[in-house]
Amino acid sequence: MEWDESATLLLEKVPPFVHKKVRDRVESLAREQGKNLITSVEVIAAREAFAFNQNLPPQTVNKETETGKLSVLRKYQKYFDAQGNPVLYQAKACRGAEVNCPFLIKDSEILADKLREKLKELHFTDRLIEKIEGRILPHHTMKLAVAGCPNSCSMPQIKDFGVHAVEPVFVDAECECIECMKCVEACREDAITVKDAQVTIDKEKCVECGICAKVCPVGTIKASEVKFRVMIGGKLGRHPRFALELFPNTDESTVLKALEVCAEMIISNKEEHRFRVLVEQKGIEEIKNKI
Ligand code: SF4
Ligand code: SF4
Ligand code: SF4
Repeated sequence: MEWDESATLLLEKVPPFVHKKVRDRVESLAREQGKNLITSVEVIAAREAFAFNQNLPPQTVNKETETGKLSVLRKYQKYFDAQGNPVLYQAKACRGAEVNCPFLIKDSEILADKLREKLKELHFTDRLIEKIEGRILPHHTMKLAVAGCPNSCSMPQIKDFGVHAVEPVFVDAECECIECMKCVEACREDAITVKDAQVTIDKEKCVECGICAKVCPVGTIKASEVKFRVMIGGKLGRHPRFALELFPNTDESTVLKALEVCAEMIISNKEEHRFRVLVEQKGIEEIKNKI
């Protein structure tokens, strides 16, 4: 079916991933009415009939019409939610819980959801749109990752804000070691020595995966409370950088507070868009002091 220019312009304002759906609906309504040319009249009539304009929040449409800021991101579905609203952050979680991963310490999707909620609460997307002059590009968006254990399958080390769960372990002197050596065999970091029933854990080598506590049959090695390692400023691109450690093991509320501080750094700095540069300018200690 033919579309005139005014109808085509209206269709272009719809997020690309719902184009087909909208086009089909407009054409189906026009066919029912015996028409074979789509003009803005048919598009508007279909919009009223099917309410597909819910995909375009009024605020965003107006801003975008004025500036075209989101024109590049509109090519990628991942920068928009199911309703077509822009979401300028992506929090990736490992699939540990979903696949019953034997290394899983903590379901990463739960924390990833809380991180997304925190950014929503801070109106991160709207404020970032406001901050950036000109078109917003994929590298302007904030990348986050959460992993359920130090294996870090979601790659938190190369994200602006990365977290993985840790399970610190300790030796309980009350529980006598039977020298089965299961912990020594299980530790991939070669961090455990057992001699004359004395167990020593090298904290420099230990990555707090908690595996030794799981395999110890008598409880000589025990796991303590689950915590999170937080890293910031990781990136790929022309000059890749691993994230810098902000906290080696901290609790969930500190993780959320850390995210708040990092997000505010991004939003409040008018000139610099690259988070890694901001982290290096401020320094890890100063960032920590704000949390
Ligand atoms: S990060 Fe750990 S828990 Fe998550 S999928 Fe990888 S190995 Fe499993
Ligand atoms: S927690 Fe993991 S890395 Fe640390 S000593 Fe135990 S098995 Fe080794
Ligand atoms: S697994 Fe437990 S009992 Fe066995 S050697 Fe290690 S600490 Fe001792």
